[in-house]
Amino acid sequence: MANETTVSFKQLNLNSWIIRQLQNIGLTIATPIQSHCIPKILEGKDCIGCAKTGSGKTLAFAIPILQKLCEDPYGIFALVLTPTRELAYQIGDQFSVLGKPMNLRYTVVTGGMEMLTQAQELRQNPHVVISTPGRLADHLESCDTFSLKRIKFLVLDEADRLLGGLFDKQIKTIFSAIPKNCHRLLFSATMTDVLETVKEVTDKDVFVHISE
Ligand code: ADP
Ligand code: MG
Repeated sequence: MANETTVSFKQLNLNSWIIRQLQNIGLTIATPIQSHCIPKILEGKDCIGCAKTGSGKTLAFAIPILQKLCEDPYGIFALVLTPTRELAYQIGDQFSVLGKPMNLRYTVVTGGMEMLTQAQELRQNPHVVISTPGRLADHLESCDTFSLKRIKFLVLDEADRLLGGLFDKQIKTIFSAIPKNCHRLLFSATMTDVLETVKEVTDKDVFVHISE
């Protein structure tokens, strides 16, 4: 039910094609994490968003990334890291549906597929790469011409799991390959010590915690 705190996608200054595409898939009202994060990301702020599983965190970053991508479609625009293959494909599906009207090129890069096939896909200059850390680090280490030097957005989905220690080596490789000035968006279902640390060291971040 709509109430006074309900925010529709129309109120978020989005391109009309995005609003139309959201309507086409039956979405008109933003979830709280979306209504809080989308305007901040569009303003160019970094963002740490915490909200429970199923609260719509994927579109909280996919919508503003696609809107910004339309303004500046050059090279690999956004890199989304997530801890598992399943999540990578789910995120890919949401980008695919929403990005259809703009002919979005995206690729999912995870273990379990041929390195060579993936390397060819990466050479086609996708707009968005969605990947697990291990496989992306493999590509960075094995291919001199694969570059993330121009990406504008780095998303850490399930950031608490990505930064919790298991992926330290790969994350280090990836971070050393991305530009210092790219926007960083962290999303997580839970607020952990790891995220508290990130929050303290990045003073320009917007921190959004939706508790219910
Ligand atoms: P999270 O990453 O927070 O666990 P997801 O981004 O995977 O959640 O979204 C969970 C489900 O909610 C998806 O099926 C998605 O299509 C749906 N969803 C996302 N945004 C909205 C919205 N504004 N209104 C209704 N459903 C939405
Ligand atoms: Mg998610």
